[in-house]
Amino acid sequence: MFHSTRIRLTGWYLLIIMAISIAFSVVVYGILTRELNQFSRLQQIRIEQRFQDSNEGEVQLPVPPPFPLFDPELLEDSQQHIVSLLVFLNLGILVISGALGYFLAGRTLQPIETMVEEHNRFVSDASHELRTPLTALKSAIEVNLRDKKLDIAQVRTLLKQSILEVDKLEILSDNLLRLSQYESAPIQLRYTKVSIVKVADDAIQKISPLAKMKKVTIRSAVKDITIEAQPESLQELLVILLDNAVKYSKEKGVVELSARKTDGMMKITCADHGIGISAKDLPHIFDRFYRADTARTNTKTSGYGLGLSIAKQVVKLHHGTISAESVDKKGTIFTVSLPIQHFS
Ligand code: ADP
Repeated sequence: MFHSTRIRLTGWYLLIIMAISIAFSVVVYGILTRELNQFSRLQQIRIEQRFQDSNEGEVQLPVPPPFPLFDPELLEDSQQHIVSLLVFLNLGILVISGALGYFLAGRTLQPIETMVEEHNRFVSDASHELRTPLTALKSAIEVNLRDKKLDIAQVRTLLKQSILEVDKLEILSDNLLRLSQYESAPIQLRYTKVSIVKVADDAIQKISPLAKMKKVTIRSAVKDITIEAQPESLQELLVILLDNAVKYSKEKGVVELSARKTDGMMKITCADHGIGISAKDLPHIFDRFYRADTARTNTKTSGYGLGLSIAKQVVKLHHGTISAESVDKKGTIFTVSLPIQHFS
């Protein structure tokens, strides 16, 4: 599809360039032939004048012949020569601008092609992720419907399982929606002065039920810094990092959250002593739908691989950076650097 668009775009470039070039050539031809005609006419007048002047003087020159002193064939030759030169020039322009136009059309379409490819991948990944809980839900309902002796207890179990699947679908669609909002409409976000201590406390509060369940302790060393940011998305970023840190920690583990100021930047770190990330997975963890090997991470705790993609978008919106360091089976540290002031 993009190849034919590239050819069409090249055609349009060529059409515009050639229209300009041909119009320019016609004008140049008109000017040159007019100048040539004028030149030969003037020369003719001058020569005739000289004959007349000399006849009035002492030296007698022969009477000028009654035909033009300038050979009209020579004039026609010159005109034809100009035409061939202009045709040759236009052919050159056609070839060069064709090659250049094809190259430029490729360059112009490249970002659009990448965007469309990414969009298609996103749609196909999203539909694939949506299909899994939907299929599970459908087959559970079908199996139970076929059972003629289905009692009320079984119906309850089925409904409970269905709610779990629906919850998963809800989480997935929420994540997809937020990710697409961050990716497509960053201009709508409003930045205000935010206390990172407050944001961090709220994020820890949100994660505490999960932390309690796994008996994980969250230690906070967040300094009282005010930053220009979008409070909800900043909290979301911390929730994602803390959620992962707790999720991938061992029971009774410790997670440390810190924030400090360095050179006009706020540096946030979230460290855990959990399962770690292998060197193979580390470069991909910020990719959409990327999950490390489920056997390692234990399927019960795995999400949809969207958390860190959302985190990356939030950091990007705040003109910051995010990175991860990890030692397999020892733990992981996520570091986020955000400018304290920027958007005013
Ligand atoms: P998920 O919802 O699956 O956790 P994320 O995008 O948040 O998705 O993370 C992507 C992958 O990165 C996870 O599947 C996990 O394998 C890995 N990961 C992220 N954070 C940690 C961590 N703190 N410790 C170990 N692995 C992690």
